[in-house]
Amino acid sequence: MNLTERDKAHLWHPLTQHKLKPNHLPILRAKGSTLYDDQGKDYIDGIASWYTCMYGHCNEYITSKIKAQLDELDQVVFSGFTHQPAIELSEKLMAILPSNQNKLFFSDNGSTSVDVAIKMAFQYFFNKKEKRTRIIALEDAFHGDTFGAMSVSGLSVYNGPFESFLLTIDRIKVPTKDTSKTVFSNFKKLVATGEIAAFIYEPLVQGANSMRMYDADLLDELLAIAKEHNVIVIADEVMTGFGKTAKNFASEYMLHQPDIMCLSKSLTAGIAPMALTTCTQNIYEAFCDDNIAKGFFHGHTYSGNPLACTAAIAGIDLLVSDEIQTRILEISARHLTFQNHIKDHKNIYATRTLGVIFALDLKLKMDRYGSLRDTLFNYFMDQGVFLRPLGNTIYILPPFVITDKELDRIYEVIKNALELV
Ligand SMILES: *Cc1c(COP(=O)(O)O)cnc(C)c1O
Repeated sequence: MNLTERDKAHLWHPLTQHKLKPNHLPILRAKGSTLYDDQGKDYIDGIASWYTCMYGHCNEYITSKIKAQLDELDQVVFSGFTHQPAIELSEKLMAILPSNQNKLFFSDNGSTSVDVAIKMAFQYFFNKKEKRTRIIALEDAFHGDTFGAMSVSGLSVYNGPFESFLLTIDRIKVPTKDTSKTVFSNFKKLVATGEIAAFIYEPLVQGANSMRMYDADLLDELLAIAKEHNVIVIADEVMTGFGKTAKNFASEYMLHQPDIMCLSKSLTAGIAPMALTTCTQNIYEAFCDDNIAKGFFHGHTYSGNPLACTAAIAGIDLLVSDEIQTRILEISARHLTFQNHIKDHKNIYATRTLGVIFALDLKLKMDRYGSLRDTLFNYFMDQGVFLRPLGNTIYILPPFVITDKELDRIYEVIKNALELV
C-alpha cells in the first residue's frame, strides 16, 4: 500500500470533510522554499506552510542549533525548574517586542496563547475584585479552535455546533474610513458599560479572513478608546508577528501598545509547536500576591520545551539579521510591482499587500472550501506552486528566503490562473 492508502486507514486530518476529500498528498521532504512529494514532483511553498517556515524549510542554521541542544537537555518540567534556552529566548524577545512588554508565558499553539490571554484578562479583574466578564472582538476574526479562541473568532459556519457553549462576546465591525464613526461609537458604548475586560484583535491583517487589511490609524483610535476605559487590549500576532508586515510586529504601526500579545506560528520557524502570551508588568503584578490563589494556575506539560525555545532563538537571530531584513523589503517591493501590474485585470475585484503578504480577490462568488476554490488549488499544485485560496481570495505569504526566480514563478502561475477563471 502506498502512503496515501495507509493514511486513509487511521488518520483524521484538520479542517477536512473526509467524505469529500479522502486523499492526502504525501510530502517526503522539504528544503528552503520547496516541498517534495512521493511522486518526485516539487512545489514552491507560497504560504510558508501556514506562515510558519519563514526562514525556509530545514534551515541549516536552525537545525544545527537544535541538534546541539538535543544532546544537552531535551525536556524538563517548567514549574519549579528553568533553563538556558527559555531564559535566552526571553532576553532575545525583550529586545524586539514593543517596549511595554515584560513577561512571557509559554503554551503550545496559537489557540492556547489566545486562551491564556483571555484567562489572564479575566483573572486580572477578578484579582482586583472588579466585575468584568465580557470581551470585545472583531467580526470575522480568527483566533483559533479551542473554546476560548473559538469564542472570540467570528467564522461561525464552522463553529455552529458549539455556539451555545461559547463565552459572551461583543463584536464590532473592522473599521474602514467610511464606517469608522459608527464603529467607534458602538465601541464606546460597549466599553462605557464597565463590563468589558478585554478587546482582542489581529493587528492590521486578518489572516484567516482572507488576508483582510485595515488601517493603523483606525485601530489606534480603538486602542485609545479601550485604554481610556482600562480595557485590556490583546494583540493576536500569531500570524502577523516576526517580520511579516515588514516590521517585527504589526503592533509597531500603532502608537498605542498592546497590554497582552499572542505569538506562535513562525515563533519557532516552523520547527516545533510552541506559543507565548506576553504581557506588561502591570498585568503580571495583579497576579503576584501572598494569596496563592491569585497566581495564574494554567500550565502545559511541554511549557518552555528547550528544543522549541532553541528553534525560536535561532529564528530571531535570523529575523534580525541584515540579510533577512533586506529580503523582507525586497519581497515587499516585488509584491508592490506585481500588484501594480495586475490590479486592473478584468477578473480581479481587489488587491492588497503589506510586507511579505500579498492578496487578491477574484470577481467571483466562491465558497470557502467549495469546488471552484478546489479547481484553483489543483491548478496551482499542478503547476508546482502550493497556494491555498481562501474562497475567492488568492494570497501569497512566502518564506523570507524565497528566491526571485521562485517568486516570479508564483506570480506567473497566478497570472495564468486569472485567465482561467
Ligand atoms: C493560526 C492562528 C491562530 C491559531 O493558532 P494555532 O497554532 O493554529 O492554534 C490564532 N490566531 C491567529 C491570528 C492565527 O493566524
